[in-house]
Amino acid sequence: MRYTGKVYRPPSEANSYILQATIGCSWNNCTYCDMYRDKPVFRQRPLAESLEDIAMAGMEYGQSVEKVFVADGDALIMPMHHWRPILRSLADTFSGLRSVSCYATATNILEKTEAELVELVSLGLGLLYIGPESGDEITMRRIAKGPRPKGASRSEGYLFDTHVAAAEKAKAAGFKISTIFLLGAGGVERSEAHAHGSAKLVTAMDPNFLSALTLTVVPNTPLHRTQENSGWVLPEVPQLLGELRIIVAQARPTNALFRTNHASNYLPLAGRLPKDRQRIVDTLDLALSGEIPLRPEWSRGL
Ligand code: SF4
Repeated sequence: MRYTGKVYRPPSEANSYILQATIGCSWNNCTYCDMYRDKPVFRQRPLAESLEDIAMAGMEYGQSVEKVFVADGDALIMPMHHWRPILRSLADTFSGLRSVSCYATATNILEKTEAELVELVSLGLGLLYIGPESGDEITMRRIAKGPRPKGASRSEGYLFDTHVAAAEKAKAAGFKISTIFLLGAGGVERSEAHAHGSAKLVTAMDPNFLSALTLTVVPNTPLHRTQENSGWVLPEVPQLLGELRIIVAQARPTNALFRTNHASNYLPLAGRLPKDRQRIVDTLDLALSGEIPLRPEWSRGL
C-alpha cells in the first residue's frame, strides 16, 4: 500500500496486490535495464513495514485479493526470516489467496538451499519469474545477465548453465517457473545466435510459462552508451519477429503457456507450446508478410 519509487510487475500480475517487500534489485547491472536505477542501493524493507502493508491491504481489499506479487526486482533474495512471516501473513489475511509470486534471478535460486525452496512452496510462494533474456552465452554476458559463479572459467557457458541449474532446482522444489526472453538483446550482430540460443535455453529450462518482450534502448543505460559509442544496432521489426519465429519454432518445452502480451511487443500472441506451435509460426509469417497489422510504435510501452 506504500511504495518507494516505480514498481514493476509482469503483465500476468496486472490484477495482483503488489507487496513491495524489497526495494530495488540486488544485481542492478543488466545493461538494458533502468527499472531500479532510481533505487541504486538495494535493501530489504523492514519486516514490520511489510506486515503493516499486508494488514492495510487486507482492510482495503479484503477477500477480493486472489493473487499477490512480491516486489521489487529479485525479491526471492529475501532471507527466510522475512519470507516466513510475510507468507504466513498473506495466507492469514487473504482467505481467497490462490497465488503468490515474485521475480527471481538464477543466483537467488541457487543461493537458497533445497529445503528453503521447498519450505517457501509449502508456505504459498508458488511461481518465480526468471528473465535470462537470451540463451546465447555471448549475448548474456554482454547484457550482464548475472555474475560469474566462483570457479567458472571464462570459456564455459556459465550463464546458460546457471539458468538451467536454477530452473531444475526451483522445479524440483515444487515451483512453477515463468521465463522471459528479450527480442533484440543480441543486437543485429548476434540476432540469429540470440534466437537459436534462446530456443535452446527454453528447452533446457522447460518452463511452465514463456514470454517474450521486445527491447527498447532506454537513455542513460549502459546499453544506450554502447549503442552511442560502439555501433551496437537494435534489429529492425522484421528481424525482431524473425527472432521470435526461431524461438517458437525451435524451442521444445514440455507444455508451456506462451504469451507476448507485454506492451513492448509488436504482435500479441498466445498459445501453448508445443500444441499451438504451428499456428503461432503461421501467424508470425502472416505478420512478416504484412498481412497482419502490427502494434503501432506510438502505442508500445517499455
Ligand atoms: S536482474 Fe532484472 S531488475 Fe535486476 S538489473 Fe537485471 S533486468 Fe533489471
